Formats: sequence, C-alpha cells, structure tokens
Amino acid sequence: MSVLILSDIHANLAALDAVLQHARGYDRIWCIGDTIGYGPRPVETLERMRTSAELIVCGNHDLACVGRLSLVDFNPDARRANLWNGAQLSEQQRDWLAGLAPQLSAEPRFHIAHGSPGQPVWEYLFSPDQALDNLEFFSENHCLIGHTHVQLAFRVDELRGRAERITTHHDLTLDLMDGPRYYVNPGSVGQPRDRDPRAAYALLDLANGTVRFQRVAYDIRLTQRQMLDVALPSALIQRLAYGV
Ligand code: ZN
Repeated sequence: MSVLILSDIHANLAALDAVLQHARGYDRIWCIGDTIGYGPRPVETLERMRTSAELIVCGNHDLACVGRLSLVDFNPDARRANLWNGAQLSEQQRDWLAGLAPQLSAEPRFHIAHGSPGQPVWEYLFSPDQALDNLEFFSENHCLIGHTHVQLAFRVDELRGRAERITTHHDLTLDLMDGPRYYVNPGSVGQPRDRDPRAAYALLDLANGTVRFQRVAYDIRLTQRQMLDVALPSALIQRLAYGV
C-alpha cells in the first residue's frame, strides 16, 4: 500500500499535476494542508484534493481563505492572495474546507498535523528540540507534518531524549521501522522554500514502513503567468523561480 504525501500545494495546479504524473503507482493520497492560498488555481486544486485525498487536514492559509483565521496574522502579500483565493471558492467548497481539522490520526502508526502536534495551525517545526517537545502531543509512532515548505525529517530517540534533523535529498529513502520515532515533512508541492524550486512530495510505503522523498520539475512559468493574469503580488510570483 503506497501513500502519496502532499503538503502546501497552495493552489499551484501545474505543480500538483506534475507531482501526480510523476508519482504514479500510489494507492491513496494524504494531504497535510494549505491546499490553497498564494497560488492562481484554488478552485481546481481544492477540487482535486476534495475528490481524491483519503485524508486531509487544513492549514493556516486554508483557514484564513474561508474566514476562520484572522487575515491580520499574515503579511500583506499573503493576506491579499488569501482574500483572492477565498473569493474564488464555491459555497460548497468553503463549507468543506472550513470543516477540516488541522490534525488527525491517520492509522495506528501515523499522526498528521499541518504545523506540529502541539500547535497544528501555526508552529514551524524546524529544530530537534521542537521535535522532542512535541512528542507528548501524539501517541502514534510517527508524525507527518508540513507548513515550513522545507523537505526534511527528524529522527527521535525517545529513551535518550535525543533528536536529529535529517536533511533530505532526491530519492532518499528512510526506513521508519528501525526503532526511533520520526517526523516526516514532504516539503511543499506549490511553493518550495529550500532553494530547490522543483515541486516536493513523499511516498510512504505502509507495508515496508519506508518513506521516499521526491522532487519533480514543473512548468513554473505557466503558474507565474496564471498568477500575473489575476494580479497576485509580484513577490509571490518571483519567489517560485528560486524556491524561497
Ligand atoms: Zn503553506
């Protein structure tokens, strides 16, 4: 059983399409939130996830787009993009998105949280200390997270109270069954921020207990043109080319 793990798609349909084509052979999709916000195709992107994701949580941008989180908490560019994204949605889509939780239990071994198990909407889980501090907030072995837009993992030795950050690279496969607990961040499909502009995702093999990190190039210029057409902020358009 292979699960395609997606996060922070951010209404970037061209990036999502490239990932769906590249991943192939997966049986189900789990989505770690921020499906919309920032990008130019919120309606189509949300519809893809609404109809094909087996499990999905909401992120801070999703909540802001449907008025469940104050726009004051976002910088001006993100605020403008969230307002525009939210205005495109149908009533049915808004209701569906507003009804999602920011974290859930995926199956006995996996917890899913957009930011972190302790603060699922807002915490950026970047450090080993945060990984240790968050252990008390979930009982499953491992946790899938998003929000930082950086593809990475943390390996946690609970008995020794130690955690290490694992820098990922294309095609790295982690064996999750060898003892420690892991946090896995598949990176961002639609707005990577680890200086690699290619769309990021991960494939989780539930039978073997492995996760494989992947990157795929997509038509960045197409997304940039789509953003320009609807007058989204230029800084958001430009950053896609640099992966920042
Ligand atoms: Zn995001």
